[in-house]
Amino acid sequence: MRVLVVGAGIGGLTAALSLHAAGIDVRLVDRADELRPLGVGINLLPHATGALAGLGLHEHLAAQAVATSELVHFDRFGNEIWREPRGLAAGHDWPQYSVHRGRLQALLLAAVRDRLGAGAVRTGHRFVTAVEESGRVRAVIQDRRDETTTEWDTDVLVGADGLHSAVRSYLYPKEGAPRWNGIRMWRGTAAAPPFLTGSSMLMAGSNHTAKMVAYPLATAADDGTVPVNWVAEVQTPHSAQGAADWTRTGRLADIAPHYRDWHIAGLDIGALLAATETVLEYPMVDRDPLPRWSFGRITLLGDAAHPMYPIGSNGGSQAILDAIALAAALRECADPADGLAAYESARRESANAVVLANRDMPMDRTLRLVAERAPHGFTRVEDVLSTAELRAITDGYRRTSATR
Ligand SMILES: Cc1cc2nc3c(=O)[nH]c(=O)nc-3n(C[C@H](O)[C@H](O)[C@H](O)COP(=O)(O)OP(=O)(O)OC[C@H]3O[C@@H](n4cnc5c(N)ncnc54)[C@H](O)[C@@H]3O)c2cc1C
Repeated sequence: MRVLVVGAGIGGLTAALSLHAAGIDVRLVDRADELRPLGVGINLLPHATGALAGLGLHEHLAAQAVATSELVHFDRFGNEIWREPRGLAAGHDWPQYSVHRGRLQALLLAAVRDRLGAGAVRTGHRFVTAVEESGRVRAVIQDRRDETTTEWDTDVLVGADGLHSAVRSYLYPKEGAPRWNGIRMWRGTAAAPPFLTGSSMLMAGSNHTAKMVAYPLATAADDGTVPVNWVAEVQTPHSAQGAADWTRTGRLADIAPHYRDWHIAGLDIGALLAATETVLEYPMVDRDPLPRWSFGRITLLGDAAHPMYPIGSNGGSQAILDAIALAAALRECADPADGLAAYESARRESANAVVLANRDMPMDRTLRLVAERAPHGFTRVEDVLSTAELRAITDGYRRTSATR
């Protein structure tokens, strides 16, 4: 069986590694001329770490990442609302990791080239459309250097080509643009002194007005600082969505005033933002869950199948789970179409549930309640939230951290 994976992102590369481990012949194409380490921080939940460990990558991952030990919520004045352990500290078998997305992609790419051969990934090649004939698929691929197209014969075509998936558009030509919820996210990394445990993720404020998420991407350097990934979420008028492009730069001036006097758990947020060289901006978008991913010998995986709000550490994690399930289903099947149907029934319902749970954002509702009830801060969180309201934060994470 020959599989063509469109997209060499986190999901596509993991799919290539797991298909190869299952003895399946696999090639990848990616539209990018070169796979450069783009993006900022991304988080992997314990089940995704376990999946990468199953591919023999845990040691490499651990060397590049921080094992997140806790998640702590604050109001915008630095008063603590809620704290909960994560990863190994929460009793999971594998750590939760914070890692630079570009480093994770580079690690996966190196493993693909090492195991499948240097030519397994063809960059600068873009999926355009497909031709299906008598049980086979021909993918029409364009070489972006000279814009010539060729047809690539394959038994299975996997669309792992992200939010603006061309494979998804081929299957759902009328779908249209992603949906935006009115929140814009500015992101960046900068050096700062370690805060809390040195492996803590903090969330402060409310995304109804302004919220900050920050976590370290490595342990302390010789100068005692750590690279801190930050995400500023700010509610803005719907007229200002901006393109959903992960590489689009943003303006610090648009958000700095919101965070000027914020000092959270020893982290000077204003200084962190000011020290950031490149600020990226992205709208909080997703797409409605699909009723079907697999059509004959074509299927979708990762963000192409179930793009979700990038909260709750699930975008990359769910793509990795898809990749493992796809290889398991194709290894077992006699007919590739049956394999793709089995893959979809293993994954679609639970991934779609995470898309909807992320939309619901129960933890953000709780943070908003705090901002509304205690606009000038508080001394005891019990005076602001009931036990049930506090419990809703953990319940929300449980729903968005689905392990299957
Ligand atoms: C450049 C970039 C930066 C990102 N930065 C962050 C970040 O900082 N934080 C975060 O949480 N998430 C980030 N993401 C998204 C995150 O990687 C995904 O949400 C998650 O990992 C799921 O991965 P995926 O493999 O499904 O999709 P992606 O990681 O988006 O990968 C999709 C791949 O498909 C390729 N592609 C697209 N269209 C075509 C086509 N027609 N033909 C061939 N190839 C195609 C793209 O070049 C890309 O390499 C980023 C994605 C990209 C592409």
